[in-house]
Amino acid sequence: MSSKNQLSLKNTTKEKLNPSLYEKAEKILQLKEETRVNSDKKYSLLEMQEICHDLEVHEIELEMQNEELIHTYQELDNSNKRYFDFYNLAPVGYLTLSEEGLILEANLTSSTLLGISTQILIQKPVSHFILQEDQDIYYLYNKSFSDQTKQPSCELRMLHSDGTSFWVQLESSTQNSDGIVLHRLIISPINERKKAQEELRIAAIAFKSQNGMAITDADGIIERINPAFTALTGYSEEEAATLANQLGEKIFESMQKPFFLKTRDYYAQMSIGVTLLNSDDTVEDLFKHADIALYQAKNSGRNTLRFFDPTMQATLDLHSALEAELREALSKNQFRLYYQPQVDELHRVGGVEALIRWLHPERGLISPDDFIPLAEESDLILPIGLWVLQSACEQLKIWKNNPHTAQLNVAVNVSSRQFRQPDFVAQIQQVLQNCGVNPSLLKLELTESLVLENVEETIQKMAAIQHLGVNFSMDDFGTGFSSLSYLAQLPLNQLKIDKSFVNKIFEHRDNEMIARTIIAMGIGLGMNVIAEGVETIAQQKFLEASGCLFYQGYLFSRPLPIEELEVYLQQN
Ligand code: C2E
Ligand code: MG
Ligand code: MG
Repeated sequence: MSSKNQLSLKNTTKEKLNPSLYEKAEKILQLKEETRVNSDKKYSLLEMQEICHDLEVHEIELEMQNEELIHTYQELDNSNKRYFDFYNLAPVGYLTLSEEGLILEANLTSSTLLGISTQILIQKPVSHFILQEDQDIYYLYNKSFSDQTKQPSCELRMLHSDGTSFWVQLESSTQNSDGIVLHRLIISPINERKKAQEELRIAAIAFKSQNGMAITDADGIIERINPAFTALTGYSEEEAATLANQLGEKIFESMQKPFFLKTRDYYAQMSIGVTLLNSDDTVEDLFKHADIALYQAKNSGRNTLRFFDPTMQATLDLHSALEAELREALSKNQFRLYYQPQVDELHRVGGVEALIRWLHPERGLISPDDFIPLAEESDLILPIGLWVLQSACEQLKIWKNNPHTAQLNVAVNVSSRQFRQPDFVAQIQQVLQNCGVNPSLLKLELTESLVLENVEETIQKMAAIQHLGVNFSMDDFGTGFSSLSYLAQLPLNQLKIDKSFVNKIFEHRDNEMIARTIIAMGIGLGMNVIAEGVETIAQQKFLEASGCLFYQGYLFSRPLPIEELEVYLQQN
């Protein structure tokens, strides 16, 4: 190629072609020319353009490849950093061991766990860091790998450089890299779990020794069962729940057989509360939750098993807030006594029932159904019950001086807990004495369930109170399970037919029949019979025709505050 030709080529194409590519193309042509011995072939502009185009495409390809490479490098770098973080900052310790058990590599977590820098760990035998007492465990665990039995993991205590020991779970895997066998040891700290297990074990033992029951079954074989506390550990949540349920079924089944005690068979009923332990639960939480579940089981009827339900917890939290307020209510004098008249068939008022109300500063008047059951669960019912008794007797004292009211009697509701107090008789005596009122004007209302809790003790106590001159009425009669033989033994003056029968007397023939039977039974046993919840004339007429001559209910009056009662008394 002549220089003249070259020049003319340059001049005609320079603007059209990329200058750097043009120079490269020139160099390529020069090389080609040098290899072109004895050739005088000239290159056309077209040939030149084609080569430039090829080069251009090639250049773009190279650039793309280059970019890809840079990207791959960055990825690799990131992944390296990630791996480094995962490896070093993992929640578990990683140790790479030689076949002889020397540490070849350690992550930061293992160095933190052991309290020794990674550099110092290298080349040390791992057994150096295992507590003397637990060396055998490690030895056997290691051995399980060589004799092919491969235990999945073991638990032992390792040593910190400060001399303390801590529980870990060890898992290991082997890697064969280029004919060299390496062991990877994974160290999971389990101190918290171990501590909780130990607390649980101690608590379970304590609980068992408190609640173990000696029971003689129908065949007279002494069995010692511990249904009160059983802990299942090492199961998934679902497995544990299923197992607990099955265990509960078995316990219920075993309790269905009668127990032979002294001379007769007894049938037991039971309730079971179950809670599943979370890793962050304390032993106190565990007992609290089991108690709540048990409480729920008891409320759901006999022979039931209930799991702890967190919404129940919320209800109970509300309860404890209410309980605190209730405590305050006493000292802040927020309770009021309302009085509901009790009348005879001629609508003459013979007495009143004292019914408590809570005058809450924000929520207004609260019905006893909303706080008495709660007060009964705690000891709060005791001071509240005493307050009611004192207030009722003070009212009797006021009425004593007025001939129109001097003969009125007051009925006071008594809770089981209150009645069971060892000094309940003395309390009654004291209050009567302090007020100087006629004891026969005071009537205590007991429920069937109270009486049946311990019939013998109840009869004795009732007799002592009756000896003071006080009367008794059996409240809500018909809803419980009293038998005729118990009823005859109790020193009762009155039976009070429960309002649930009275209200629905004409709805169901059964109710009519029950009301008639109660009346006949009461009269037969020499008691007077009063019906509560009388709302219609028809009800009153039916009761009267059946022999019930005393009534209490909205037909006559709602429970009234004392000022309104006094107005009512003047008008009737
Ligand atoms: P109780 O002793 O059976 O009282 C009768 C309840 O029936 C009262 O409800 C009364 O207001 C209501 N009642 C009266 N007449 C009628 C009527 O015609 N129809 C209807 N549907 N209801 C009527 P109250 O006052 O809400 O008391 C509820 C329960 O709270 C009482 O039932 C009693 O068990 C308890 N209680 C009330 N005051 C005290 C107390 O001072 N101490 C204790 N331990 N318990 C109390
Ligand atoms: Mg009552
Ligand atoms: Mg009642």
